[in-house]
Amino acid sequence: MKRDKLSIYLALAFYLSSVLAVFAQSGNQILDGIGETGLIARYVFEGNLKDWSRNNLHAEIKDGSPEFIEDTLFKKALALNAGNNTYISLPGQTLNSIESLSVTGWIFFKSDADNQFVLDFGKDSSSHVSLKTTEDGTGIQSEIVSETKGVFKTVSKSLKPNAWNHVALVIDVSSETLITYINGKHAAETKLDDFELEKIFNTPNGKNELYIGKSLASNIGNLDASLYDFRLYRIPLSNSQIDNIFHNSLGQENQVNERHEENNDLQEFAEDEPQLYNQYLTRVPDIEVETVVGFLPRLPRTLDGIYINGINGPKVRVIWPAPIDNNVVLQPGKYTVSGTIVGSKIVPKAIVTVKTDSPSITPSKLLETFNLDAVSLDLDSHGHQSKFIENRDKFIKTLAETNPDDFLYMFRNAFGQKQPKGAKPLGVWDTQETKLRGHATGHYLTAIAQAYASTGYDELLHINFGNKMEHMVNTLHKLYQMSGHPREAGDNCVSDPSAVPPGPDKANYDSDLSEDGIRTDYWNWGKGFISAYPPDQFVMLEQGATYGGQKNQVWAPYYTLHKILAGLMDIYEASGNKKALEIAKGMGDWVHVRLSLLPTKTLIHMWNSYIAGEFGGMNEAMARLFRITNDSKYLETAKLFDNINVFFGDANHNHGLAKNVDTFRGLHANQHIPQIIGALEIYRDSNASEYYRIADNFWYKTVNDYMYSIGGVAGARNPANAECFISQPATLYENGFSASGQNETCATYNMLKLTRGLFLFEQSTDLMDYYERGLYNHILASVAEDSPANTYHVPLRPGSVKHFGNPDMKGFTCCNGTSLESNTMLQNSIYFKSSDNKTLYVNLFIPSTLKWTEKKVSITQTTTFPNEDYTKLTVKGKGKFNINVRVPTWASKGFFVTINGKKEKVNAKPGSYIKLSRKWKNGDTIELRMPFQFHLEPVMDQQNIASLFYGPILLASQEPEPRKEWRKLTFDVSDISKSIEGNPRTFKFTINGVVLKPFYDIYGRHSTYFDVTFK
Ligand SMILES: [Zn+2]
Repeated sequence: MKRDKLSIYLALAFYLSSVLAVFAQSGNQILDGIGETGLIARYVFEGNLKDWSRNNLHAEIKDGSPEFIEDTLFKKALALNAGNNTYISLPGQTLNSIESLSVTGWIFFKSDADNQFVLDFGKDSSSHVSLKTTEDGTGIQSEIVSETKGVFKTVSKSLKPNAWNHVALVIDVSSETLITYINGKHAAETKLDDFELEKIFNTPNGKNELYIGKSLASNIGNLDASLYDFRLYRIPLSNSQIDNIFHNSLGQENQVNERHEENNDLQEFAEDEPQLYNQYLTRVPDIEVETVVGFLPRLPRTLDGIYINGINGPKVRVIWPAPIDNNVVLQPGKYTVSGTIVGSKIVPKAIVTVKTDSPSITPSKLLETFNLDAVSLDLDSHGHQSKFIENRDKFIKTLAETNPDDFLYMFRNAFGQKQPKGAKPLGVWDTQETKLRGHATGHYLTAIAQAYASTGYDELLHINFGNKMEHMVNTLHKLYQMSGHPREAGDNCVSDPSAVPPGPDKANYDSDLSEDGIRTDYWNWGKGFISAYPPDQFVMLEQGATYGGQKNQVWAPYYTLHKILAGLMDIYEASGNKKALEIAKGMGDWVHVRLSLLPTKTLIHMWNSYIAGEFGGMNEAMARLFRITNDSKYLETAKLFDNINVFFGDANHNHGLAKNVDTFRGLHANQHIPQIIGALEIYRDSNASEYYRIADNFWYKTVNDYMYSIGGVAGARNPANAECFISQPATLYENGFSASGQNETCATYNMLKLTRGLFLFEQSTDLMDYYERGLYNHILASVAEDSPANTYHVPLRPGSVKHFGNPDMKGFTCCNGTSLESNTMLQNSIYFKSSDNKTLYVNLFIPSTLKWTEKKVSITQTTTFPNEDYTKLTVKGKGKFNINVRVPTWASKGFFVTINGKKEKVNAKPGSYIKLSRKWKNGDTIELRMPFQFHLEPVMDQQNIASLFYGPILLASQEPEPRKEWRKLTFDVSDISKSIEGNPRTFKFTINGVVLKPFYDIYGRHSTYFDVTFK
């Protein structure tokens, strides 16, 4: 749906000023208009075989040494000479878990010999993808050989002789095509019949053979050509994207950094056609809203609607304009806001009164969480493992088998220390040259602390994790003590963190972490420094370094540091390990010294740098360190991480999230969510109300205007980056559903963390409804069937596949890291208690036992929820307290309470907490029944595209093959359940002949959104 012209103009202005400017200067993440997550690897071949992408999938030359030549077009290129038999090999895991594949590159053939292999990727010669010169040597041929589907090939003869040619091969599985492009132009195409690329490769084990310049069937290279800028993408590139790559490499940069991802394959629908319930809508009454000067009003995203023929439609989704500042509320008075309802001419209005009062008081913290060891997960009422126990055990088992020295490898490497026997470096984002190395270690510290606290049920495991914590902390402590201290007594050293010089024999700071290039002069790093790389990246960020793979670029130094500090504090809190706290304090001091010297302007610039300035939750970690130590320096340090533009609009704090302005549209989702968690932590420690408003406003906007049905929030087509929030709020269909994926799993991990934090202040069911949604439909659904492998993105386009990585915990992306945390704390939000220990909150319906030590009672929850709409709480011990039970918003068919077998009269409004208050006796039981019903959840700006829920559980169909169009489902408008057959106990339903199951039980290809019509 298109927005009105003014808002488009405003959006563009905002965009250019605050987003594009940041993006444009870096470049690596939006290369030729294609988002970074689409790129698997890029080999420019300008003097080395390194992968320029963040994935560090460096290539190797085989049978010889690489020969780089001067070139008139590209300055430098790689020459392969058939006479030398050399070829290039790519790491076997490069093409793991891909659904589609595009390869582009420049090639200058030096001979017209036939059957020269440009590339050959696959299991072996019976299952592979290749690109080679034709049998007669006059053209180029792409070929896929499948063990089950036969051979597919294209032949093109449009190569320019004796010249550079840009060649591209695109395997688009969802549209079932194999296409080649020569010099930006479509050259040849063939249809792929019922084809799955994954079956061509050995996945996910990574035992593929991937060659440039050699066939899989041969032992020697046979390519006689020069090569330049080879790229592998996990998405099917479009004709115009390939044309852009072609033109941009020639310096004809007409469309570099184009923002909008191609909309070439997301189905389009008529804009003026009312869909779903909106076609029966007759009227939406106006509403009146109040606010105070300076603060944008919070306009409800749904309003009551009046439908024809007595149709009992749901609340109506209204899309309101989303101003980019607070100009409209700078004076007291009244004004009217007109909203839109997609496909409908009805214009709902909100009459806003702007008052001069002071803003409302922000809430105090009333609740406490229970420690992880206070709550244990139980078998369900049939004695079966719940999905929660299944997933927990996959992680605990593998985590117990890890070698902590692998997670310490890059720390020892940074400090120039010898590795102990058996230690092996981790892969993926923790390899020698990855500028994010050490990030997995931070997650690992948290995971073993949580596992230690959660394994009270198994003494051996408990001891295992206890030992791991000791070992990790002892080693890190030793290294930390070395920083800024002389190597030998009497030697020179630099103890002042603000005086760290460039590395020995280096003129400047750099981020070179290669074996030969890394500096290990820890004595010059300032007291307290700890990281898996030297301090240069921190210094370079202050000096304006951008995100990227070059030596003068950085990844995200503070992001990694946040994970490490959070892990150390988790260990301190789980086990009382004082050394862990000492390290955290020492590094906190180091950070304080450096950042407190910087002007605000520099800080604003740093924290608005795309990815480079990603600091995770450093503000949260520092505020938490203040809470633990009561040293106000750390709270001060936390505030140095304020993302001033996002939080407060500008350096004068004129608006921003604190005044309910959406300042995060189009920004990187997971870069910013942890900052909001930090704002809430600062509020907790300082009572400064603006920080609460930042968190509260952010949460409301994110859940209402950016969320997919599984609870995830990232996945933009515009901006063209699957890790970003959409460019305009409430335009998920227009700007979301990126072809590169949606729902980065970290982002949901962080949204749940924020939600849990907010609940301590405001006991709203909206919060715990969201928590339940994200927990069941994303976190539970993000783990592989038989291992702790887990998802990065969870894509929700038609016929998508969940891809799981890191089954053996040997190579972590960010999401592999946060999954270690998510799956060792699954029990942490079932129960909360009031700070005065008078009230227990029961939020989630998960088989579990709570030990409430302050009250000397335990509560056992027995259920097979969600396979039944019932749960039972049994009290052991006695005492007077309230039990507040969540009545979910989805429980619209009633919520029934029985205490000791007797029906209890309660006013159980959906979306509220009921209070059960009495002197509880040993053995008292509370039975709760909450009949599930089916409901549709449409995408806000494309109502016919909707997800189907049964109670809180998202239902998905298993898809037998790739698809481009949304699966169609038709329901009875008077009652959608009339169109659904099936058994709630087994959670298997049939609609129009299509089988639907919980999304967390679906592996392989799925649909979670459907094209819904009524009959
Ligand atoms: Zn992630």
